[in-house]
Amino acid sequence: MTRLCEGRVAIVTGAGRGIGREYALMLAEHGAKVVVNDLGGARDGAGADIGPAHDVVAEIRAAGGEAVANGADVSDWDAAKGMIDQAVAEFGRLDVLINNAGILRDRMLVNMTEAEWDAVIKVHLKGTFAPSHHAAAYWRDLNKATGEGANARLINTSSVSGIYGNVGQTNYGAAKMGIAAFTIIASRELRRYGVTVNAIAPGALTRLTEDLGGPITEERRRRGDPRWVAPIAVWLASEQSAEVSGRMFEASGGVLAIAEGWHRGPTAEPVDDPTVLGPIVADMVAKARRNAGMNGMDLD
Ligand code: NAD
Repeated sequence: MTRLCEGRVAIVTGAGRGIGREYALMLAEHGAKVVVNDLGGARDGAGADIGPAHDVVAEIRAAGGEAVANGADVSDWDAAKGMIDQAVAEFGRLDVLINNAGILRDRMLVNMTEAEWDAVIKVHLKGTFAPSHHAAAYWRDLNKATGEGANARLINTSSVSGIYGNVGQTNYGAAKMGIAAFTIIASRELRRYGVTVNAIAPGALTRLTEDLGGPITEERRRRGDPRWVAPIAVWLASEQSAEVSGRMFEASGGVLAIAEGWHRGPTAEPVDDPTVLGPIVADMVAKARRNAGMNGMDLD
């Protein structure tokens, strides 16, 4: 088997379960040394347990790979720095950061509490920003020291909930759309250091999704295996993906696609009088492409 990530050092956040676990296992299969991060809390983020991260490390080691566990809360600034430092201390360098950790606290906007909003925004947005900042600073210094480019990869996790929109998830969708914007901006900023930045909007049957989308049939279980998501992450983590940056990949057992971002649609001459805008806006709305539905195609 060709091993795509031989000798590369990768951190996967939220890798104790679900999609992150598959990323960690497949990266290790492909020769990467992996820092398996997981806070180990409940689906809604409550609590902590390093057990799931240790279990994945044990699986990787049993298969002959190299891995260490990290129990940081990715949205904790100092703990996120500690995670980057741990990768360098254990394995001598860092090549790949996959920000995958996530929680859900779904609620209709009218009922959503401040705590439900804050928790989801913190884990997803700050939990992407904090590790990314510390990794980017490391890669900037590495690029400066060697003058060769870091040849590194930052891979974030978005969602069709964010890029297309899902009812009941204003908190989660706002965070995931924010991560899409973060990805595009970071890809422009970090190119100069030899770092690519992409995002994956995954689809898989995990504890986050098992009570959504109706009964769990054999077909749903097969297509929902998180192992379908891991190949694009492993390829993006490898040196083969050097020319791909600022992209949003949709990946599941049902689809592999690139989601295209916002583009300016119909335009009109600016006006200084709001009373004339009715027909102008109606004309633009009639000409504009409609928003996608949750499958990325159906019209809203
Ligand atoms: P999961 O619950 O199985 O795994 C997420 C892991 O993240 C858990 O093990 C959890 O302990 C860990 N985690 C949560 N908060 C953390 C924190 N602050 N610090 C460190 N670790 C933390 O869920 P999953 O479905 O595998 O989700 C992985 C990612 O994919 C999430 O970002 C999720 O939003 C995203 N996603 C999943 C789907 C899907 O279909 N499953 C769809 C779209 C997006």
